[in-house]
Formats: sequence, structure tokens, C-alpha cells
Amino acid sequence: AAAARAEDVSKVYGSGDTKVTALDGVSVEIPRGRFTAIMGPSGSGKSTLMHCMAGLDRISGGEVYIGDAALSTLNDKRLTSLRRDKVGFVFQAFNLIPTLSALENITLPMDIAGRKPDQEWLDRIIETVGLRQRLSHRPGELSGGQQQRVACARALASRPEIIFADEPTGNLDSRSSSEVLSFLRDSVRDLGQTIVMVTHAPDAAGYADQVLFLSDGRVVDRMYNPTADRVL
Ligand code: ADP
Ligand code: ADP
Repeated sequence: AAAARAEDVSKVYGSGDTKVTALDGVSVEIPRGRFTAIMGPSGSGKSTLMHCMAGLDRISGGEVYIGDAALSTLNDKRLTSLRRDKVGFVFQAFNLIPTLSALENITLPMDIAGRKPDQEWLDRIIETVGLRQRLSHRPGELSGGQQQRVACARALASRPEIIFADEPTGNLDSRSSSEVLSFLRDSVRDLGQTIVMVTHAPDAAGYADQVLFLSDGRVVDRMYNPTADRVL
């Protein structure tokens, strides 16, 4: 089954003269263990789609599923716990705690939740992220690309069913951007993580298994990456 699905989703902001239809009948499927990129011009609805699929925002029509759960049937409390238990987030701003080491930042959300990270899983993440020599460094001692990789590793730590990344390379130069995209791709290939990413980065399409193109609140194209060498 898909990790997440949108079925004929619409999202309208405001009303009357200020009404904006941000999503207009969007249906997409997010395959499990795959890397999906959502691309399109500014204002095409990318962020809105991601927020709606991640349960951060209520939709105006249609349905969103995370796993088997239909989000519109959940009250706010159950939606919050579903997000906490099943969803990971990466944003453009790294949101790392400056006084904590890279490793402490990676495990912080689990520490706060009183959950013990699976050591073997953590080791695999650290191996994949390639920051073993930097784990005791504080964010200020790391490059932007390294900081964002720490933020991605933090999202991976609890092994969420799905990770949503909103413009994860938006603040990075092209070299750091490639580092982060490579790590996200490896998290999918080597660790089996499901990732959905909203991006403007033109080279992002080369890393993803599936690219969805939005325009004016609709999906106008889908591309399956042949170089990803896996059948969807
Ligand atoms: P993208 O991420 O592709 O740039 P967005 O999802 O941010 O697009 O926005 C899609 C459309 O919805 C735009 O016209 C935007 O101005 C509008 N929009 C987004 N968020 C809001 C909001 N909170 N209130 C009103 N309009 C919004
Ligand atoms: P992005 O760069 O991801 O497209 P935006 O700069 O469009 O993000 O939007 C940033 C925030 O502002 C989002 O939370 C979005 O919902 C909100 N927003 C975007 N457009 C509007 C708008 N026209 N009116 C009110 N809020 C908006």
C-alpha cells in the first residue's frame, strides 16, 4: 500500500473577494520506500499540498490518507498524535539547538518523547549521513550542508513512516544542496525511508524516484526517474 495518498484534494483559502484556490482536485500517491519530489513554479500549491498531506493543514475537499488513516476522520488530538508517531519533518531553516552537539540534536526529539532510539538504526543513519567525525560538533561548527544533514538525520531517528521535507536545500549553495539531496536519496535507497520533498532545486529531479509537477493547484505532469533504476 502507498505510504500516503491524496484523493481529489482541494484547498481554498479565504472567501469572497480574497478566495484563493490553492489546490484544485489533486490526486497523488506516495509510494513506500521511495523518494518523491514535488516541483512547480512559485504559488503553484507545492507547500499547501505538502502541509495538507502531512496533516498540518485541513483540506477543503477530497481526502488524504497516511497509511490507512483518512485524515478528515481524525479529530485534532488524534491528528496530532498521528503526526508525532508517523511523520517526520525537515524545513528550510535547520532549527537545530545551538548549544547541543550534532548527535544530541539528532536524538533530542526522541529524548523529549521519552523514547529510546534504536541504536542499530541510529548507527545506520550516522553511517549514511557520513558525519561520524562531526557528531560532537555544535551546529555553529558545521557547514550549512552538514547542519541540514543533521536536521535530516534528526527526522529519520524515530523511523517515521514518512518524512516531509519543505525546500530542504532552499538556504544552501549548490554543493551543499547536492550533499543534502544525496543523503536524502541514500536514506531512501539504503534505509528504505519514504520521503516527500518540495523543491525548487532544478537538479533535484535527478535524485528522486518520482517527480510530481504542479501548476495552478493541479498536478500537470508526473515523471518516474529511469536512472533511479527501480520499478515503481
Ligand atoms: P508554492 O509552495 O508552490 O509556492 P503555496 O502552496 O505556498 O505555493 O501557495 C499556493 C497558493 O495559495 C498561492 O496563490 C498562495 O498565495 C496561496 N496561499 C498559500 N497559503 C495561503 C494562506 N495561508 N492564505 C491565503 N492564501 C494562501
Ligand atoms: P513557500 O516559499 O514555501 O512557497 P510562502 O512564502 O509561499 O512559502 O509561504 C510561507 C507561509 O505563508 C506559508 O505558511 C503559507 O501558508 C503562508 N502564505 C503564503 N501565501 C500566503 C497568502 N497569500 N496569504 C497568507 N498567507 C500566505
